[in-house]
Amino acid sequence: MKNIVLFGPPGAGKGTQADRIKNKYNLFHISTGDVFRFNIKNNTKLGVLAKQYMEKGDLVPDEVTIQMLNKVVENNLDVNGFIFDGFPRTKSQANALDHLLLKYDSSISAMIALEVADEVLIERLTERGKQSGRADDSNKSIIENRIKEYYSKTAILKTFYQKKNCYFGIDGVGKIDEITERIIKVINEL
Ligand code: ADP
Repeated sequence: MKNIVLFGPPGAGKGTQADRIKNKYNLFHISTGDVFRFNIKNNTKLGVLAKQYMEKGDLVPDEVTIQMLNKVVENNLDVNGFIFDGFPRTKSQANALDHLLLKYDSSISAMIALEVADEVLIERLTERGKQSGRADDSNKSIIENRIKEYYSKTAILKTFYQKKNCYFGIDGVGKIDEITERIIKVINEL
């Protein structure tokens, strides 16, 4: 299996790029944010729980997120691999992911990180909020809290994957097509 972690701060463009590369490589795209939003919309127990964190821009607790992720992977094993978008976001999620993939004699092939400056992120998220109406994109202090959560809990994962020799940073600013090409180049060389 080819398993890719698409990494980067909120607004880096993970979802946009995941959509473009999943078909090319027949990978199953898991966006933890999308799964949470689906559950919120359908008012499930998981959705009710996740909502109180997401609307503040806080991370949903690890235990809940890991359990959900495990379930999605286990229900979709007939693929060439996965694109993880928005997961892992903490060290304990990264360890849980290793553990899960090991069960299937698999591992993370690459973490591809979209590098984008904070000012650009805030601009992009504010713009997206106007169009999508996503509550957590519509308020500056919530956006700033998400970026803060990223630097305090998530950014350290760069070192985690660098140690495994599978971290690839790419410039996440430019035309969408150009960024896709940068990602494809990394995947083709794996
Ligand atoms: P973005 O990357 O733009 O923040 P996402 O849709 O990936 O958008 O995430 C939205 C929110 O969902 C996060 O702010 C967080 O509350 C929750 N979330 C998503 N993935 C995770 C995760 N792996 N662990 C904890 N919370 C998560």
